[in-house]
Amino acid sequence: MNGTPRGDEADLLLHGGRIRTFDAQGSVVDALAVRAGRIVATGRDALRLRAAQTLDLDGRTAIPGVNDAHLHAAWLGARWPHLFFSETPPHEQPSGRLVHTQEERRDALRRAWRLLAELGITSYTEPGIGPGEDEGETGCFGTAMMDAYLELHRAGSQTARVTLLRLFGELDGTADLAAFERGIRTPKPDTDLRWLAVTGVKIFADGIPPMSTAWVSAPYPDGTTGALLPRGADGALHAYRRMISLALECGEQVAVHATGDRSIEEFLRVLEDRPASGSAPHYVVHADLASAEQIARMRAVGAGFAVQPLIAEHTRAWAGAQLGPARAAAAWPLHEMIASGTLTTITSDAPIATPDWRVGLDASLALLDRDDAGTREQLLRRVTVDPARQDGADSWKGTLEVGKVADVAVLDEDPAEPGRAIAAIGISRTIVDGRTVFAADR
Ligand SMILES: [Zn+2]
Repeated sequence: MNGTPRGDEADLLLHGGRIRTFDAQGSVVDALAVRAGRIVATGRDALRLRAAQTLDLDGRTAIPGVNDAHLHAAWLGARWPHLFFSETPPHEQPSGRLVHTQEERRDALRRAWRLLAELGITSYTEPGIGPGEDEGETGCFGTAMMDAYLELHRAGSQTARVTLLRLFGELDGTADLAAFERGIRTPKPDTDLRWLAVTGVKIFADGIPPMSTAWVSAPYPDGTTGALLPRGADGALHAYRRMISLALECGEQVAVHATGDRSIEEFLRVLEDRPASGSAPHYVVHADLASAEQIARMRAVGAGFAVQPLIAEHTRAWAGAQLGPARAAAAWPLHEMIASGTLTTITSDAPIATPDWRVGLDASLALLDRDDAGTREQLLRRVTVDPARQDGADSWKGTLEVGKVADVAVLDEDPAEPGRAIAAIGISRTIVDGRTVFAADR
């Protein structure tokens, strides 16, 4: 900490394995040097530096630290080890208020952070904390949880970088336009953006296909179409469009929970009226029923998708019964999203599904129905490179290039080599900002 190291010194040198940088060329290097939390050299340049600490990868593979671009960490920590999609039967699932005191809220966050460190996750988006949930059932999403985040942030306790979206309605519920407008105009907390960046706002547009609550243009087999969740004096559609516009006017990143094609369409129309605002791209969370045409238009306005192939795997049969066979077959268009070059993040939505991204990527391979090195690298970029873009932070994280932060996941085997379940690959070490926050051999 005292004084800047000389130019030929490094704090940490990784060598002896395969280091997948995920730079634009997909370069693989054999060494990486870190100084003051930043990558200062790779390959031969790195091996020339004198390092205070060396880490022999012993044939393992290093990738950029994983970034789960949609993960409810406070809720995950409060519920752990119980996930919604798990062996835990419904009567054993936690219910009601999960956290009561500030200490319990901080404990929930710390528990989540330990778990994420074990999984090689070095960044995530907490999608929705704010006054809309102050009376919420679980206690995991209200203003008090924001305070817990800020306390731990200011104490320097984080082992993962956090992007946080504010919430001015209920999680998975309704929001009132007037309350939203009051909320979006309140100032954001002052934070170190490298560790806790409050980038924008989460808006819930609709429900989910299995419940026939996704807002769709063609009716479900039962004749219904789902509906919007926002509320206002001039109707739901006005309230929804106005919330998006207000957030854009305030320079906020807008993340909309939208599963039905109608919800996505209305989001797109607002974005197309006033494109390219704010510092981080706007995006649709879930997007189960996005059409190929909508995916292309999202790319054209610089917006993206945060999707959950593992939830698709869990709910496919259930949703199919509600959607009818043709629409179910076209649902979860991950292939179109990736092939079109649209910003796409593969996320867990934990604690709905497991936060284990390895399981999520295996589900992605199954959804794409292919397994080759190119596809695997594309998927790995969807949990590293694209999430950094979604965070508006790709200039300083998401790849292992010189100048970027040293956030690294070391894996026992190369996840880009086809033929083996990614979930079977052990996580050996997690490094955040040049500091080891998890080591399997400790
Ligand atoms: Zn969610």
